[in-house]
Amino acid sequence: MTGLLHKSAPMRDATADGSGCQVCGGEVHPYRKGWLFRCGACGVLSSSLDIAIPSEESEAGIDEAAREQGLATLRRDNNALLLDRLAALAPAGGRLLDVGSGPGFLLAQAAAAGFAAEGIEPDANVHPDQAGGAKVRRGFFPQVLEPGERFDVIVFNDVLEHIPDLAGALAASFERLTPGGILCLNCPDKRGLFFRTAAALDRLGVQGPYARLWQRGLPSPHVWYFTPGLLDRAAGRAGFAPVGRQRLATIALKGLWSRIRLVRSTPLVLALASYAFSVMIFPLLRLTPSDASASFYRRP
Ligand SMILES: [Zn+2]
Repeated sequence: MTGLLHKSAPMRDATADGSGCQVCGGEVHPYRKGWLFRCGACGVLSSSLDIAIPSEESEAGIDEAAREQGLATLRRDNNALLLDRLAALAPAGGRLLDVGSGPGFLLAQAAAAGFAAEGIEPDANVHPDQAGGAKVRRGFFPQVLEPGERFDVIVFNDVLEHIPDLAGALAASFERLTPGGILCLNCPDKRGLFFRTAAALDRLGVQGPYARLWQRGLPSPHVWYFTPGLLDRAAGRAGFAPVGRQRLATIALKGLWSRIRLVRSTPLVLALASYAFSVMIFPLLRLTPSDASASFYRRP
């Protein structure tokens, strides 16, 4: 267990601290599974799934090459939408911090869009070889930053839903933004068609897809499922004011198969079923709430 920099075992009462739900302060209750919780007041879902991000390189359960290939098209398009919004909200040439920057797709695009882009990445198995030379620090936000260091933009791009200390991450973002600075939160939305379908299947006893959406068994599973409204509340508690929202695509057909096959332990039949389902409902996705959207906030 020595390779683990961050194993959030102690705070396992529903990702609520002593003062209740981190989104609204309400009471959090166990919900349907031993590892799942729901706030009775705001409805945010949280999990107690174990986080075990490796701080040293290891043979991981995720095929990193497949992950990159599978997510590249989707990420690039969604990142472009995010950065267009950010360019309109933040000062030109501003300093942008991407928390959990992964291979660095957003960093490279942000730099190309004129931002002074930097990243933070805790996972030793993820290499920033797509970051276009942008500086990436190895470690956790905000501990890895210099004292007093501040940014014009902070982005959590598919990252906030992995952080048990939600209130702490938002408070640190507030502190690390310049006044007027912009926070961008891109998180999965529990109103989305994929999540709702998986939840319905789970109720019928088909548990695979739901566990997969929570990324159960992976080194960094989801500990939250929000809606944009819930993010507004959580960010509002930290002092932020909402300034915009951007719907994002959840799947691109190109690269979908390798994305589904990313978890080596997924049975082939489940992978095939996921792929068939995705292709079938693809035309409907435009008409229903997206499984992902980005919300933008300003530090007053
Ligand atoms: Zn709540």
